[in-house]
Amino acid sequence: MSLLVDLHHYRSAQNTPCSVYLTELTAAVELTVDGIDTHAVVRMLDNIIRTTDNQPFAASDLTASDRDWLLAHLYQKYWSNRIVSTLECDQCAAPFDLSFELSALVSSIYQSIPREKISGNARFMLAQHDVDDVIGAEEQTDYANDHSRLALNLPTFAHEQATVSVSLQQARNFLLQATRDDGESHNLAPESLALLLEKVAPIVDLELEAACPECSKIHWAHFDLQSYCMKKIIGEKDNLLVEIHLIASHYGWSLAEIEQLPRTVRQSMANLIVASR
Ligand SMILES: [Zn+2]
Repeated sequence: MSLLVDLHHYRSAQNTPCSVYLTELTAAVELTVDGIDTHAVVRMLDNIIRTTDNQPFAASDLTASDRDWLLAHLYQKYWSNRIVSTLECDQCAAPFDLSFELSALVSSIYQSIPREKISGNARFMLAQHDVDDVIGAEEQTDYANDHSRLALNLPTFAHEQATVSVSLQQARNFLLQATRDDGESHNLAPESLALLLEKVAPIVDLELEAACPECSKIHWAHFDLQSYCMKKIIGEKDNLLVEIHLIASHYGWSLAEIEQLPRTVRQSMANLIVASR
């Protein structure tokens, strides 16, 4: 069954908010996932995203934040809402689990996005007080006159690609092509813009605190949803080939036919074949 997801930053050519369907994963899609990098994510999303009004859609126009948002929905649908990772305490060597609900984490991260201030794809119009709320009033003088608004263009994958072979400073300038609505360049410090980006386009890439239950030592565990989700798909490939083999052997269907089965159907059929033996 398809999954309907409201995007945060994406706007159609008519500048309207957009919802997309994620069609069900198939072996044809899963087998083409060959990495955990952003290229692989964009390629996979292009294969499974359909717009509600059948308009053309390119996943390269999505922000990193919207990509992670989609992956969070995908992960909850096919795997679990609970993420469990086993850590080893570096003080007492005891193994222990770090466990959390993905939906709660994602809700807390994405609740700060002011969707109503988006005008154009991945483009925010922020008033002076919106900026001050994030970076602190002491930066006010950096941000020129009282009446202008800041147009903040969020980087999409297409932008990310264009900055691969330029200097760090050029990349920073390019990615944060923010101007004021009076046409002047902004003069916010890079650190302030980073804070703004974190607020309006967060990603699920963070350090989580976990205490060892044996000795109470506090640990910080890195969680990056994109890597986590893509590794999950890659890690299932051997099992996926077993499912294809079972169905092909049992029904005599071609690889092309089996590759188009929705993932849940394919898995149920493989389970039935195993149970009937
Ligand atoms: Zn310990």
